[in-house]
Amino acid sequence: MPGNSFCDSPDYQKKRIAMVKNQVEARGVADKNVLIAMAKVFRHLFVPEKLREFAYDDRPLPIGMGATISQPYIVAFMTELLELSPYDRVLEIGTGSGYQAAVISKTALEVVSFERIKELIPVSQENLKNSGINNVRVFLGDGTNIPEKFGHFDAVIVTAASPDIPEYLFEFLNEGGRLVAPVGSLSYQELIKIKIEDGKPVLTHHGNVRFVPLIGCRGWKE
Ligand code: SAM
Repeated sequence: MPGNSFCDSPDYQKKRIAMVKNQVEARGVADKNVLIAMAKVFRHLFVPEKLREFAYDDRPLPIGMGATISQPYIVAFMTELLELSPYDRVLEIGTGSGYQAAVISKTALEVVSFERIKELIPVSQENLKNSGINNVRVFLGDGTNIPEKFGHFDAVIVTAASPDIPEYLFEFLNEGGRLVAPVGSLSYQELIKIKIEDGKPVLTHHGNVRFVPLIGCRGWKE
């Protein structure tokens, strides 16, 4: 919808600033680059038109095909855990609306994002285009089975619930690289972070979350 490109309003702006202050900063996200990214990306452009009035609410929202756009705080917290710097290459599994990738794109060099539902590919691409973002590449495919040709990344984020720690993704990480993923059952997961230090994965835990399932050859079965 070309008419919607870069569209903001004083009401959305007010809600977005309140979201960053009350939902994100107040809960402890302190990385200034992440806070600025959350303020810069127009979240209302990433939710279905009929849900736009709720875009800045403190909750996930449905985006169709059984997928969701995550709660703003979770997007910010996971981005902070990635410890991004401006020259980082980032891999995302689970493009969904493209919002998480858009936030990351403001604090990194480029994002490669995989989505398994083909109907969501043009939606996320359109959302990113309408947001003026051109350093995110979206691919259709099973993010649990990515070809080696995509190279190495400084950070990997999984935005769907994995049954196990996704060790198959370690090989995509550079030395010092970070991986953040929700790991657990279908109804409840722990947010884990792996950092590659001296060639070895170091695991830390970051609280409980609830995501839609990671479905694929190394995820949950359909
Ligand atoms: N990051 C998204 C956003 O900002 O809107 C939210 C992601 S939504 C919670 C999870 C997404 O992961 C869904 O769109 C789902 O189709 C996708 N997904 C699940 N399993 C996948 C897989 N194996 N490969 C790629 N995408 C997958």
